[in-house]
Amino acid sequence: MKIRYKFLYLGLCLFMFVSFSNKESRVRTVTGEIPASSMGKTLHHEHLLVDFIGADSIGYHRWNKAKVVEKVLPYLLEIKKLGYKTLVDCTPAYLGRDPELLKILSEKSGIQLITNTGYYSANGGKYIPKHGFTETAEQLAKCWIAEAKNGIEGTTVFPGFIKISVDNKPLEEINRKIVKAACIAHKATGLVIMSHTGGSVPAFQQLEILKNYGVNASAFIWTHAQNEPDFKKHIEAARMGTWIAFDNFNQKQLERYVEFALLMKQNGLLDKVLFSHDAGWYDPGKPDGGVFRGYSEIDSLLIPALLKNGLDQKDIDQLFIANPAEAFKIQIRSGKS
Ligand SMILES: [Zn+2]
Repeated sequence: MKIRYKFLYLGLCLFMFVSFSNKESRVRTVTGEIPASSMGKTLHHEHLLVDFIGADSIGYHRWNKAKVVEKVLPYLLEIKKLGYKTLVDCTPAYLGRDPELLKILSEKSGIQLITNTGYYSANGGKYIPKHGFTETAEQLAKCWIAEAKNGIEGTTVFPGFIKISVDNKPLEEINRKIVKAACIAHKATGLVIMSHTGGSVPAFQQLEILKNYGVNASAFIWTHAQNEPDFKKHIEAARMGTWIAFDNFNQKQLERYVEFALLMKQNGLLDKVLFSHDAGWYDPGKPDGGVFRGYSEIDSLLIPALLKNGLDQKDIDQLFIANPAEAFKIQIRSGKS
């Protein structure tokens, strides 16, 4: 009998191991959780609406959702035709994040949208609410963790990543606090940290903070990395596991983006690269929301140029399907880089 129990026990362990390793990674869209493998072709950094009025004056009264939908929907339908399944909306709270609007646009377009939690500390704290200055990193993290656990502002929309920002210079105290809060929130939620950064100085300073909190560099998207001129820095950060986001693609940048992709491929680091347009958006401060920049130039310009210059379709799928799924999957990434 005893032996039989042992076999039963071993069998149970094996079953648990197999089911655990088969457990599929998930990402969180504004209409619910999906398997990471359902993300499909993705633009990982775009905006549907941004309002620069500042944290002290912003509110949902600033825009009419129906008017925004009318303006933005055609651009989502355009990328749907190009085969995109998911767009990550990187507008943070106090800059125009509107979970209900995103849900409407996702349902109308059939494009999966992902929104975020977190605060934007660049620009002298113009987009940080008052309590952001007085509270500790732990207290701020608590707010963001609550959004991840209960939904955003009483809606049924949950954040799929942590969006923060720092200034493109050595980190100030407010920047450090926001990064620390992001580390605490990552460890509680498994949401990846996307940080509007720019150059390598603040990027590596942030990676140092992650290390101190025991958060792996693979939990960090170095956003606006194209603003760092030295590709060696990108390679160094990618080797640590960091996601390197060249996220403001436009025609003028074509040659440089291609050069960067080829270099990363040569170094076996294409699996750490993310491309996007950082385009859009409806601006409530401008008549009729201003001039909208669409999301199609990567398809019309960058992908053909990459294919012409030495990348193959497998590499393209890596960049626009596999990498976003890996970056945005919900997983606590701890330990040394
Ligand atoms: Zn952006």
